[in-house]
Amino acid sequence: MPSDALATAERALLVERRPLTRAEAVAVAQEPLDLLPDLVALAHRVRLEYCGDSVELESLINAKSGACPEDCAFCSQSVKFDTGVDVYAFLDLEEVLAAAHATRAAGATQFCIVVAVRGPSERLLDKVIEAVDAVHEQTGLEVACSLGLLTPAQAQRLADAGVRRYNHNLEAPRARFPELCTTHTYDDRVETARLAIDAGMELCCGGILGMGETLEQRIDFAFELAELGPCEVPINLLDPRPGTPLADHETMSAREALQAIALFRLILPSAWLRLAGGRERVLGELQGMGLLAGANALIVGNYLTTTGRSPEADHALLEALGMPVAEGPGEGRFVVDATGSHALPAKPARTTIPVTTT
Ligand code: SF4
Repeated sequence: MPSDALATAERALLVERRPLTRAEAVAVAQEPLDLLPDLVALAHRVRLEYCGDSVELESLINAKSGACPEDCAFCSQSVKFDTGVDVYAFLDLEEVLAAAHATRAAGATQFCIVVAVRGPSERLLDKVIEAVDAVHEQTGLEVACSLGLLTPAQAQRLADAGVRRYNHNLEAPRARFPELCTTHTYDDRVETARLAIDAGMELCCGGILGMGETLEQRIDFAFELAELGPCEVPINLLDPRPGTPLADHETMSAREALQAIALFRLILPSAWLRLAGGRERVLGELQGMGLLAGANALIVGNYLTTTGRSPEADHALLEALGMPVAEGPGEGRFVVDATGSHALPAKPARTTIPVTTT
């Protein structure tokens, strides 16, 4: 028998087709972890109902590494911390293209160009757009970018260049952010996320779990993200980086991480929930459970500053789970509209999941 809280969540999402309220999500989160299999089963059903069974694969390229002037406490690319991370300027076009071809060979359909900066200079943006054009022309991959804080004109240039998705994470719950970063604000991040959508790009916006937030703050974080209407939500699980202020932070347990992934699925029923950095370290042998707990997208290959496992291992996992790889542009993109029903939009998702807090 599911608990009352789970039964309420199931009715809301699968029968009434409305988003959960915060109170309903908190009630689910307060269930003991012994009930985790029930929560995972519900999250999986919600994922199948709203998103289908496919899994989207994406590779990243850290196209400009280290020496970022910002002071995000979790990040080994900040110039403020002595982390020993590689420092290099924007890669040559050939190197970006080689990574894009490798992405295609790994069976991914998304290629994300990431640079470690507060925001791009015009010169850097020119180079990124040159790379975007070349990747489109030579590989047919969908290109996403993660270039930090944008101006409206920069967001429009990226959208006009055909950048499908812009990644800009909120990183942490609003209540925790000032303790983790002092060089820019949460609202700076929210503003860029909104600019990306306004320019016509899909929004990829998530963060890192396990940085000391409470369970309720974790739920608040999922609602803060839902308010922005992201198409994709990357879930990183803190893998503490040597030299950063969080270097000695304890990692989440695998069960706690699975609970968080499932809660994010219930609160963001239609998003691509992408398991990203830290999944190997935190979930260990339970990575497949992450995909049964509501996640439906993976970063394959390496992360920005840490090494992932082989794409072959992820393909074998998907085959074992009977989950097909999302084939290409547009597949499986559902949004929840104002009435809570879902639809497959032809254009980037603009609809925000209505959020209630009572
Ligand atoms: S802005 Fe990005 S690259 Fe720079 S320190 Fe923060 S997380 Fe790292």
